[in-house]
Amino acid sequence: MLRDTLSRRSTLALVAGSAITGAGIATTSADDEVDGDESVSRDSHVILEGTDHETTVYTTEAQADGPTVLVVGGVHGNEVAGYATANEIAKWAIDAGTLVTIPEANATAVDQQGRAGADGVDLNRQFPESSEPQTELARGLWDVVLENEPDIVIDLHESTGIYAGDPVDGVGQAIFRSNSPDATTTAQDAVDHVNGEYVDESDPLFEIGNFTRSGVEPSGLLVHKATRDLDADAFLVETLSTDHDLETRVEWQSVIVERLVEDALFPEEEPDNGHGSGDDIDEDEESADEDDEFTEDEQTDDDASDSPTAEIETDPAGAKDHSLEPGQTVTLDGTCAETPNEAIEAYEWSVYSADQYNKTGETIDVTIAKDGEYSVGLRVVDETGATGKTKITLSTE
Ligand SMILES: [Zn+2]
Repeated sequence: MLRDTLSRRSTLALVAGSAITGAGIATTSADDEVDGDESVSRDSHVILEGTDHETTVYTTEAQADGPTVLVVGGVHGNEVAGYATANEIAKWAIDAGTLVTIPEANATAVDQQGRAGADGVDLNRQFPESSEPQTELARGLWDVVLENEPDIVIDLHESTGIYAGDPVDGVGQAIFRSNSPDATTTAQDAVDHVNGEYVDESDPLFEIGNFTRSGVEPSGLLVHKATRDLDADAFLVETLSTDHDLETRVEWQSVIVERLVEDALFPEEEPDNGHGSGDDIDEDEESADEDDEFTEDEQTDDDASDSPTAEIETDPAGAKDHSLEPGQTVTLDGTCAETPNEAIEAYEWSVYSADQYNKTGETIDVTIAKDGEYSVGLRVVDETGATGKTKITLSTE
């Protein structure tokens, strides 16, 4: 729980009985922490001063040594939860390491509430690998990256849809992550945590995404360059901005970032930061708790003997094995699902995306928007609430 984690870094606020509510957690905790007896040092400075793009970089340093984390928001100015969350993260107290935050990376875009800012270009395509960033703003931001040599880079975004099939900007709830085993494990943990504790059943679940390969569009992303040029673990977080209020999206993003940086900035053993070290023995207990959570999840999913079996039939038949054309519509039929229990009650489809159930119905039509490979999943729920899942890939190749 986020609240457990908060207790480690805002003990004062909790003891004082401050109103830390689930919904307003990012705001409340940050304010309380700033008032607290902090052992961090804080600094901020403006970059690109005197240009249209001037913006503030916040640095928070703990007394205890540790990794450096860079959190960026506002690369796209219309993705509000990204910079709202980053502005709160800039105020976080940390137990170890260094937290560098650029909440409004593209300040004119944030002002205009647009994807692009004064220079009219998509900032998140201006960071080619192995060469200089392509705009004045991108170079200014990259200089901050180079100065700080972050071990972890997190870029906060939002998406207006989950149908676009674009692997970065049209996918809704996702954590895209660089390839290292550490980044993969951490992202999976964050996804499990936010889905398990904070995402309602009716909301689209977060999923893990891969970065596009080098040379494959979209390219020139800040997170790509950070991992490929500097070997940082990098994450791009997307919340779905439609259908959910800002407070919920900020909470999701805060929880995700907190989980992604937990080992780096909030290590279990809190060395030499004034909070005492008597908590060390709790470490085993806490990890045991986490194991329990995962076991519980697995058991729920593993209840296979009573679960229905989902199956997808396509019209044209065998569409998953055929090359499809952009513009072509395929009808998907889930009624061949079987259940050992009562009847199937719900057919939920995740179109172009794993596990985000964005359509319902026994049959649905899916139109191939453009060249590419698209994942479509089906989850069937029977009268007992047992579920079965399957997935097919529709491809133009
Ligand atoms: Zn974006």
